[in-house]
Amino acid sequence: MLNKDLLQMETKDVYANVTEKVKAFKYENPNAEIISLGIGDVSKPIVKPVIEAMHKAVDDLSSMDTFKGYGGYYGYDFLREAILENEYQQYGFTKDEIYVSDGTKTDSTSILELFDNSSTILLANPTYPIYRDGAAALNRKVEYTTLDENFVMEIPNKKYDIVYICSPNNPIGNAYNKKDLEKWVDYALKNEAVIIFDNVYQGFVRSKEVPKSIYEIEEAKKCAIELKSFSKTASFTGLRCSYYVIPNQIYKDINVIWKRRTMNRFNGASYIAQKAAEAVFLPQSQKLIKENIDYYLENAKILREGFEKAGYEVVGGKDAPFMWVKSKNQKTSWQMFDYFLKELNIIVIPGIVFGLAGDNYIRISALGKREDGIKCIERILKDEEKN
Ligand code: PLP
Repeated sequence: MLNKDLLQMETKDVYANVTEKVKAFKYENPNAEIISLGIGDVSKPIVKPVIEAMHKAVDDLSSMDTFKGYGGYYGYDFLREAILENEYQQYGFTKDEIYVSDGTKTDSTSILELFDNSSTILLANPTYPIYRDGAAALNRKVEYTTLDENFVMEIPNKKYDIVYICSPNNPIGNAYNKKDLEKWVDYALKNEAVIIFDNVYQGFVRSKEVPKSIYEIEEAKKCAIELKSFSKTASFTGLRCSYYVIPNQIYKDINVIWKRRTMNRFNGASYIAQKAAEAVFLPQSQKLIKENIDYYLENAKILREGFEKAGYEVVGGKDAPFMWVKSKNQKTSWQMFDYFLKELNIIVIPGIVFGLAGDNYIRISALGKREDGIKCIERILKDEEKN
């Protein structure tokens, strides 16, 4: 018997719809120069010192003296130590609390194996759809909370066992400040909830009031699991390497149980990817990676200002590579999508993909090429003049 829960995942249909509509439009308009502002993938290549580390890692695999086979369930010590030294030692963590993996997409939902079927899950509306569909595939109960006027998740007045917080946020592109996170840590401690804190876009944060980690709030060690990835910051979307922290202080021996689970369900990320990830922390890599991220943030600025000039309300794009653009005349997100595709030959992502509350918005990505972003804004402003 097929697992019917897999059919509860919504995202395939929506993205399929985007792809189909674009394909049909291209068929009817073969000469249209279509630009995508929808892509969530990076466009900058991996920086040189990381590429060099990878070449060396490949060579290691070619000789019996340096060959590496299975690498351990929780990641190589060299990488866990680098992550610890650069990011988590400052909060008093040890290497044992850090896990290396092959992507936050997997980690964000496989972590649900920790909790029993009756656990209730709280998501934002709109949300990164993988949380919703990962939970659906495991037949977990999901409810949603609305966002306040600053696009921050509102604290519910009932108990949930698991709360997903994504900051910097996909799709909205805003980031939670320390006060926002303090409120959530307080809620979690009062309700014995676990916060799954998805911090994969942390490298994009430039505002001082946005914490680098949820563990800047001391008590978060008792209730939060933090997820991070090399994907968007270091262009590892194709290479695959992520990491996460499960504090020893968190409830009910979670860390001990998770070690047992991981030992039985995971054989580690590749040696080459982990060697590359280690090199991400070199000062010469950090400098180049910052330049790449600055490029995306400058794209975001150009896009944000362009949309605003055209009269749109825009959220985000300052500490994240995404923006959330509101419809000007009550169009649904699919109507906005159709308008941008047909009139401007621009692909955007309809907000409804991320939840019902997104139906008045589109998501714009700044991860593409600068010249494409500039062209889009020119088209949008020209269109505005016409109307
Ligand atoms: N979490 C969020 C919020 C994302 O936007 C993405 C990628 O788009 C991921 C996780 C997935 O990251 P990874 O490439 O590490 O699987």
